[in-house]
Amino acid sequence: MGHGAAFGTGGLGRALVTLHLGGCHCGRVRFEVEAPDELQVSECNCSICRLTGFLHLLVARPQFKLLRGADDLVTYTFNTGVARHLFCRVCGIKSFYVPRSHPDGYSVNARCLEAGTVRALHVQPFDGANWEQHVAELPRW
Ligand SMILES: [Zn+2]
Repeated sequence: MGHGAAFGTGGLGRALVTLHLGGCHCGRVRFEVEAPDELQVSECNCSICRLTGFLHLLVARPQFKLLRGADDLVTYTFNTGVARHLFCRVCGIKSFYVPRSHPDGYSVNARCLEAGTVRALHVQPFDGANWEQHVAELPRW
């Protein structure tokens, strides 16, 4: 009754794909990402993620579009050099990057998504400190 129709064919409890907007703190870096409104994200304990509290939303490349800020992104690499950590050169926020686990896609920081389109956020711990033993547990597309 009432609000039921607003959920369309998805029904209650079923995630609908939507367009989320996000970016860095100063606003120079802005992107849109196509993902469910109910997000499954990973909280990683590796040497870099544990310092920033990055919440990984893994998406294939076509689901992500950088709207602006390409010239303001600085790349940081370490260890294998596969992951390309991208920071806004002005405010220092890493709102998305190219992860070692999915170099053909992106990991978007769910903390950097605008409020309003995320209906629910399910956080799953990922043992990135022991990356080789656990990488297969990450979602694939
Ligand atoms: Zn910024």
